Amino acid sequence: RYFCQSIPKIELHAHLNGCIRSSTFRQLLTSSDDQIRLDTLDKNFSSGDTHSRMANVFEKFALLRSCVTNLDDIRRITRETLEDFIDDNVMYVELRTRPRSFDNGKIPSSNYIEAIIEIIKEYEEKICSRLILSIDRTQTLEQAMETLKLAEKYRTYVVGLDLSGDPNIKSFERFLPVFNLAKDRNLSTTIHIGELPDEECLNENNLIINYKPTRLGHFNFRTNEQEQRVIKEKIPLELCPTSNLLTMKLTNLTEHHFNLFYKNKHPLAICTDDSGLMNCCLSSEIFDLVQTFNLTKQEIYDFMLQTCNLIFDKNMIDFCQKKLKDFFLKQ
Ligand code: 5GP
Repeated sequence: RYFCQSIPKIELHAHLNGCIRSSTFRQLLTSSDDQIRLDTLDKNFSSGDTHSRMANVFEKFALLRSCVTNLDDIRRITRETLEDFIDDNVMYVELRTRPRSFDNGKIPSSNYIEAIIEIIKEYEEKICSRLILSIDRTQTLEQAMETLKLAEKYRTYVVGLDLSGDPNIKSFERFLPVFNLAKDRNLSTTIHIGELPDEECLNENNLIINYKPTRLGHFNFRTNEQEQRVIKEKIPLELCPTSNLLTMKLTNLTEHHFNLFYKNKHPLAICTDDSGLMNCCLSSEIFDLVQTFNLTKQEIYDFMLQTCNLIFDKNMIDFCQKKLKDFFLKQ
C-alpha cells in the first residue's frame, strides 16, 4: 500500500466537481439549510440495479451542481482537489469539467475556466494539471460547439474534449459534428462508453468506436465484437474500479474488465472518476488491483510507464516517464 502511495502517479479521468471533498459538499449544502437536500447527500447509492444506481449518482450530481453557485466555490473545489492529488503523489492530472456560467449568464463560462486555470497555475510547482472540457449528454449541438470554441481559446491548458453526463441520453450522434471538428483541429477526445447494460447503449457503443476517439472511458458493458474491435484498434481505456464496481453492481474486482484488457496488453489508465463522491483515491484504486491480480513491483512500473503514453499533453510524457524511472531507480 505504501509503495502505491509513494509512486508518482498520473490521473486521466477525474470530473472536477465529482472530486469535491464530502466536508465541502456538506458545507456548501448546509448554508441553504434544507433538510430534503441533506437527505439526498446522505443517500447510499449502492442499492438496486445499474439503472437505479446510476440514477442515484446523478441525483447527487444535480444536487452538487445546484450548490456550486459562484467562482469562489469552483476555486475552492479546484484548490482542494489539487491538494488531495498532491497528497496522494499524483504528478500529472487531467481534470475534466463542463464549463458553466453563473448569475444567469452575467458571469460567462470563460470566467469559470479562467478561475480553474488560475488555481492550476498556483499549484504548478507541485502538480502539472491540464483541463479536458466536458460536453454533457443533455446539451444541444450549439452548446457543444461553444465548448469546442472554449477549448480552442484556452488551448495551452485545455488538452481535450470529453462526452459525459447521464448515459440514459443517447446523444453521441448529435454531437458527432463537434467531435469531427475536434479531430480536424487536432484536439484529443475521450468519450464515456458502455455505462448501461441496455440495447440502446450497446448500439451507441458502435457509433463511438467507429468515430475512434483518442481514449474511451469505462467500457463496462459491451459486446464481444466491440471488445475485440477496441483491442484490435488499440483504443486506450480509462478504468475507474470503485466507480465501475458501484454502477456495474460487482462485488469483487476479480470480475472487473481490467484483467481481460491487462492480459491483452491493452493501453490502460487506472483512474478515480469522482474521488470525492466515491470516497476513493488513486493510490488505493491501484493498490486494490495490484492486490487482486498479484502484480509485482516491476509489473506496476511497466504498467505506469505505458499509462504515460496516454497523456493528452504530449509535451509532458518525457517528464512523467523520467520521474517514474527516477523513483524506481531509488527502490
Ligand atoms: P463537472 O463537469 O461538473 O466538473 O463534474 C461533474 C459531472 O461529471 C457530473 O454532473 C456528470 O455529468 C459527470 N460525471 C461524473 N462522473 C460520471 C460518470 O461516471 N459517468 C458519466 N456519464 N458522467 C459522469
